[in-house]
Amino acid sequence: MRYIDPHIHMVSRTTDDYKRMALAGCVLVSEPAFWAGFDRSGAEGFRDYFRQLTTFERNRSLAYGIEHQCWLCINAKEADNVALAREVIAMIPEFLAGPGVLGIGEIGLNKNTRNEATVFLEHLELAARLLELVLVHTPHLADKYQGTRMILDMLRDEPRIDPERVCIDHVEEHTIRLALEAGHWVGMTLYPITKCTPSRAADMVETYGAERVMVNSAGDWGHSDPLAVPEFIFEMRARGHDEALIRRVVYENPLTFFSQCPRFEFTPRGDAVAATP
Ligand SMILES: [Zn+2]
Repeated sequence: MRYIDPHIHMVSRTTDDYKRMALAGCVLVSEPAFWAGFDRSGAEGFRDYFRQLTTFERNRSLAYGIEHQCWLCINAKEADNVALAREVIAMIPEFLAGPGVLGIGEIGLNKNTRNEATVFLEHLELAARLLELVLVHTPHLADKYQGTRMILDMLRDEPRIDPERVCIDHVEEHTIRLALEAGHWVGMTLYPITKCTPSRAADMVETYGAERVMVNSAGDWGHSDPLAVPEFIFEMRARGHDEALIRRVVYENPLTFFSQCPRFEFTPRGDAVAATP
């Protein structure tokens, strides 16, 4: 089955991962800007990163037959430095016209600080002004519920951004309903240990349905699995779910969400051959 991984940090992965993903049916990845594992020394470090995402990484992906899209922002961890964040936000528009940029992301909260909230709102202001899609990172573990509430409140107070143009990512059992009821898309992150397993994601699809629901691997430089979306497909098939439902979650939903970006163009390679899933 063809699938899309709507949240994966390919700069941290090898070309062998691209090949294994292509063999497993991956036709498109979307890569949000994130923390490099260390704080960058200044705004120019982000300019280099944005160039890497929009040129080198995109070409590396395309060489394996996988369309590459990305999202730009300063991540929540480094966004606690408001002065640095403002410099980075100011440089984002120069990259938006380039190929393969879907919008602003993954913005969000990490420790739910006042500075993080300030920078989150300034990213929203940019997205509202330029009519960009938004991808939101929600905090982990103990901070998740409170952080998700704060994020949903800030989004509700920004009427210029349609809820359907925002994806709330890393949802879990205690936050998925809040995000769906607010009218947003949601992403479930399939990690081997923390966040959500393929089995828990399948449970949530059974509970909440497939509308506006996506799954991703969030594969990065830590313990993660770039083939987590195929693991979800395997789990859903093992439970006897029909192919149309699975395809909706792993393929049609990300396409529908991304298609709200007017720059987004995607024709799967070898479409005539791949027409049967
Ligand atoms: Zn991420």
